[in-house]
Amino acid sequence: MKNRIKILIKGTVQGVGFRPKIYNLAVSLGINGNVSNTNAGVLIDAEADEKTLKTFIEKIKSEKPEKANITSIETVPQKEKGYKDFKIAKSAAGKEKSLLVTPDLSICNDCQNELFDAANRRHNYPFTTCVNCGPRFSIINKIPYDRKNNSMRHFEQCKACEWEYINPAERRFHSETNSCSICGPEIFLFDKNGKKIENENPLNKTIDLIKKGKIVAIKGIGGFHLVCDAENNSAVKELRKRKGRDKKPFALMSLDIEKIKEYCIVTQKEEALLSSQERPIVLLKRLNKITVSEAVAPGLDSFGVILPYTPLHYLILKQDFLALVATSANKAEDPIVASFREALANLKGIADFYLDHNRDIVNRIDDSIVKVINNKESIIRRARGYVPSPVKLEQELKEVLAVGGELKNTFCLTKGNYAFPSQHIGDLKSFTSLEHFERSIKNFKDLFGIKPKIVAFDMHPEYLSAKYAEKLKGVKKVKVQHHHAHIASCMAENGIQEKVIGVALDGTGYGDDGLIWGCEFLIADYAHFERLGHLKYILLQGGDAAVSEPWRTATSFLYDVYGKGLTKEKKLPFFSFAGRKNIESITGLIDKKVNTIPTSSMGRLFDAVSSILGICHENTYEGEAAMELESIIQENVIEFYDWHPEEEEGVMLLDCSELLRKVIEDLKAGIKVPVIAAKFHNSIAHGISDVAGELRKQTRINKVCLSGGCFQNRYLTEKLTSLLEAENFRVYTHSKVPTNDGGISLGQAMIANAIAK
Ligand code: ZN
Ligand code: ZN
Ligand code: FE
Repeated sequence: MKNRIKILIKGTVQGVGFRPKIYNLAVSLGINGNVSNTNAGVLIDAEADEKTLKTFIEKIKSEKPEKANITSIETVPQKEKGYKDFKIAKSAAGKEKSLLVTPDLSICNDCQNELFDAANRRHNYPFTTCVNCGPRFSIINKIPYDRKNNSMRHFEQCKACEWEYINPAERRFHSETNSCSICGPEIFLFDKNGKKIENENPLNKTIDLIKKGKIVAIKGIGGFHLVCDAENNSAVKELRKRKGRDKKPFALMSLDIEKIKEYCIVTQKEEALLSSQERPIVLLKRLNKITVSEAVAPGLDSFGVILPYTPLHYLILKQDFLALVATSANKAEDPIVASFREALANLKGIADFYLDHNRDIVNRIDDSIVKVINNKESIIRRARGYVPSPVKLEQELKEVLAVGGELKNTFCLTKGNYAFPSQHIGDLKSFTSLEHFERSIKNFKDLFGIKPKIVAFDMHPEYLSAKYAEKLKGVKKVKVQHHHAHIASCMAENGIQEKVIGVALDGTGYGDDGLIWGCEFLIADYAHFERLGHLKYILLQGGDAAVSEPWRTATSFLYDVYGKGLTKEKKLPFFSFAGRKNIESITGLIDKKVNTIPTSSMGRLFDAVSSILGICHENTYEGEAAMELESIIQENVIEFYDWHPEEEEGVMLLDCSELLRKVIEDLKAGIKVPVIAAKFHNSIAHGISDVAGELRKQTRINKVCLSGGCFQNRYLTEKLTSLLEAENFRVYTHSKVPTNDGGISLGQAMIANAIAK
């Protein structure tokens, strides 16, 4: 007696070789029926005796493809049909779109071997892929993930490729990106005016050009990179000049770990991240005497390094390069350039040549950036390789759209037990980033079939994401405080339900008193927060100008310390940079309260100290002064400056004037700047841990969540974590979404969901 059942498998099950696996399992067990992709997942119609069907389901779970992630398996009994064999059926479009879309996967080892095997028909073929690797999210127009719904639909498979596609014994059985040099996409080389270079092998010519010091824009998975030889100092400097990018670090790409070890220290954990199929840029500590140009990351003790992730990258890097600069190709704060037409329009005067290909990028997506903090992965920019994988939540959520912040924007959609944070969108003040933001929201809603009835946004009245949300019709709107969102985001990814002590440290967030917050101690759950501590307000003059010019911030902070006596502090390094006139003009404006605002920002305090110590007076990119301050820290300094929180009307205040006075005393006493930098970091950690201790006494809460951009600072995060853990606190940090503003959309969604209940 035969039984027939339908089995619906949900999760990340498409584009990972699931159907071929099912096919082979079914055939080996003698099961008849079929398997297909649907909008909801993979659907199997199976006929066999009861025991065999049971074994079948067990084997699906235990032998699933490596990249697959099963979230549920539902079975429904059916009337017997008498199937004669087992087939992979055409995809059916169902109603429910709950399927998880696979992120882009770096080239697998099998494909790499074929790429360099002179006897293989894919030898040197730059678009070699299989069921286990290749582009996914970046080329998908809609689900289900079939060839007709992705960019490969323009390329009809040749006979040999089709054989692989239909033959269950082949490793490219039902590979939706299958192609070869006869039937697949091609590469083309263009000069700076967009004129095609004919009669030359585009790959060899490109390698030759890079060796000669040229800058080539190369199309990859999620967009174009600007590429040059990282050992060629004048090429790297020229790229800086053309991009108008003074100091912001460039990412590097090297063939393998051995090569990376020639210029960086690589720990085991970092090696695992570098080699993972997500292939992020990993921030690594640099070595000293190296051949990589100093212009790659001026003033920093680290490099962002990535291994190749496409066949094309491998083909180029095999040609004896130690490292290539591979930086996202874009204009200023615009999104990454994703088509040749955009490249020509936006990279004029930057790229000498363009290496284009004709596989369209549907969803533009940058390289992800990660770093190891506390010996775990910490995501700085969540994009290719990670998105659109969801963050699994401990609770069921309503369908919410959270639109995120302004800089480093991401948005987030939720449904059921899942949050879907978008890829890094960028700075919304750029018009094209705003367009990218709006288009991506629409795209995500379609892809996941989510129709949010609630929209969450930041309280800041000027954030363009908030303005976008305010304009939406027919949805419930929830305004969320910036630092509450940071903490809720950290709670969500750590599965915390109860109240915590939240420590949010960042540059700028709009407070519910209308002032600028940035060092906040919140007792929070998802629905509420209470602000029980912060850095004591200082009057900051200059608004946005202060953010980009730390010497202005230093003036505001020091005026708070010295008052009129500041003009006598001529020996301070920042004084000679700024000049007495400028300093007096700022203090004059502070007296008259012109363009001033009280702030409790930790980011600004770091800026001020960086300038006071003569390290960085102007930020040419976000966070520069703080990153350079961290970079020069002398290791193994445990001293710190004593400063203690004081209670005022039930709120714990940390007064940084006490701290700054001591920093300057040390500076005047001739203590080395790297030692002062270490003592300053240590003091921040001690001050925060003291406040947390006081709050635990008051509330009996023992869980501390750390969030905000300042926790990208490895030294600070590790120091603070160890101090808190020594006091028996349970400390939680981010690893699944960024601790910077790229993570707040998740927190906003959690809060809006809780409030709307
Ligand atoms: Zn492969
Ligand atoms: Zn082919
Ligand atoms: Fe923030």
